[in-house]
Amino acid sequence: MSDVTFQSHTPGYWPADAMEHWNDHTWQLKNRITSLAAIEKHLVLTEEERAGILLSGKKLAMAITPHFFNLIDRNDPHCPIRRQMIPRIEETLTDPAEMSDPCGEDSHMPVPGLVHRYPDRVLFLVTDRCAAYCRYCTRSRVVSGVSDQKLETQWEAAFEYLENTPQVRDVLISGGDALLFSDARLEKILSRLHAIPHIQFIRIGSRIPLFLPQRITDDLCAMLKKYHPLFISIHANHPRELTNEVRDALGRLADAGIPMGNQSVLLNGVNDSIDVQKELVHKLLMCRVRPYYLYQCDLIQGSAHLRTSIDKGISIIEGLRGHTSGYAIPQYVIDGPGGGGKIPINPDYVVRHDNGGIVLRNYEGKQFEYPAPDPLKTP
Ligand SMILES: *Cc1c(COP(=O)(O)O)cnc(C)c1O
Repeated sequence: MSDVTFQSHTPGYWPADAMEHWNDHTWQLKNRITSLAAIEKHLVLTEEERAGILLSGKKLAMAITPHFFNLIDRNDPHCPIRRQMIPRIEETLTDPAEMSDPCGEDSHMPVPGLVHRYPDRVLFLVTDRCAAYCRYCTRSRVVSGVSDQKLETQWEAAFEYLENTPQVRDVLISGGDALLFSDARLEKILSRLHAIPHIQFIRIGSRIPLFLPQRITDDLCAMLKKYHPLFISIHANHPRELTNEVRDALGRLADAGIPMGNQSVLLNGVNDSIDVQKELVHKLLMCRVRPYYLYQCDLIQGSAHLRTSIDKGISIIEGLRGHTSGYAIPQYVIDGPGGGGKIPINPDYVVRHDNGGIVLRNYEGKQFEYPAPDPLKTP
């Protein structure tokens, strides 16, 4: 476990002659696993998975790139990649606390496709498609294009809103996954945003570096670096996702001067242990990615089997803080159900407040007192 390794998993389930096309991202997209018949060629499914796949076509489509599919360990029924990607019948169960729009995005859109919740920054939803679909997707109400609700981004109105709203200094491009667009199409969006004087920086949220590292071409990186300061938030949940190919793709982005953060989701049976999280964050730093957020899984419909307790999340942060590099530790957050925005949750290190001073505990449980400032010595 402590031995950090980056591996390649190719050709994996594919015949050796697939390697000829392997590094072509269009081949990867064309050969995604999207049907029960295709998946059963490779894996023996459980009844829960078979039923889940048959029903997924109405809710959130199944799609898995060959690159990512190869990370599934066919001998492990609890494989953490399998749990993230293969639908299960439990997705059709809804518990009363669950919602179709758990972060209350639809009610915070001044223009369809643009979520303006915080004063100085916006979330710009530019597509409803991803390279592969995460079963716990917080935006499954529109993502993948199979449910009744559609994402209808009003491009011109969104740009005009941004041009006319000077308090917006930060635009987060998400969806769906904007890196699925051609370089030219993405550049149109970036250049229009970049030309707005009050927009100080742009970020792109993307899981493409993990799902489809072949898309991170030198041409893409050369285009992106024209729009600095540009950040990318990736989404890796398990150390197994950080393969050789992924590390190289992230290296190309880092070499283009793009600072990267990782947003992971705490998922039952996937990454809900200190050991797995520690290996993940260490590998991320080796790929020059700073762990940014660890999300408590949103109350999206049909996700109860993937959610964990908040105590588990707090104990994971406690197991990291002090025990490893500060750079490796993400902020654990809950996106306030119904539209509260991201709220930090931390282990409690304050033992008590004492006469204006404070008594704290450290990561080893030892207590330390920080006294109140001496009023005679403070000018
Ligand atoms: C997550 C999010 C942001 C960005 O939040 P940061 O904490 O700045 O990363 C902005 N707008 C919306 C609607 C979001 O959900």
